[in-house]
Amino acid sequence: MLLRMSQIPLKKLMKDPIFRKWMAQVPSGFLGQTRWRVWVKRKKKGPWGKIDFATYPEAYRWMAKNLSEYHDMAIHSLARLHRPPRTRVKTGTTAQGLDTYRYKDWQLPAGHGWCGLCRRPVVFAYFSKHHFWTHVGKPWVLDGATRLCPICGGRESFVDVTRRKS
Ligand SMILES: [Zn+2]
Repeated sequence: MLLRMSQIPLKKLMKDPIFRKWMAQVPSGFLGQTRWRVWVKRKKKGPWGKIDFATYPEAYRWMAKNLSEYHDMAIHSLARLHRPPRTRVKTGTTAQGLDTYRYKDWQLPAGHGWCGLCRRPVVFAYFSKHHFWTHVGKPWVLDGATRLCPICGGRESFVDVTRRKS
């Protein structure tokens, strides 16, 4: 039997102050982005459904309003990949008295990777059936050798931007 780590639902992730604050911010440079998709899993074993919004604030408000009611959710970007939240760590002070900083990626929960489209930690896994790929009719990704985001079906090698340099 293959044991799969269960994915932490968004309502629990939102209890983390760094992640919650980052989620509440409109992604920079995206005021004009017109495509956001909220993925919704009503029940733990239930299927994923979706609802699309024109702007991030609309998608966020809908998510926040329904967060406690559903098992899990994601605000998914249909336009581009996003990096996880970063925190600024003070590294010292210059001779002129200015503070210097470096940026540190937010620590992902154990066993989770990062889906840059769903903008949240997910547990990537192999699928022989996936609601997204079945829907769009591209079964070649369901080859048992490609780990996918359980929410949006994104390939780990593409959507997990934390595994890339930059
Ligand atoms: Zn995803």
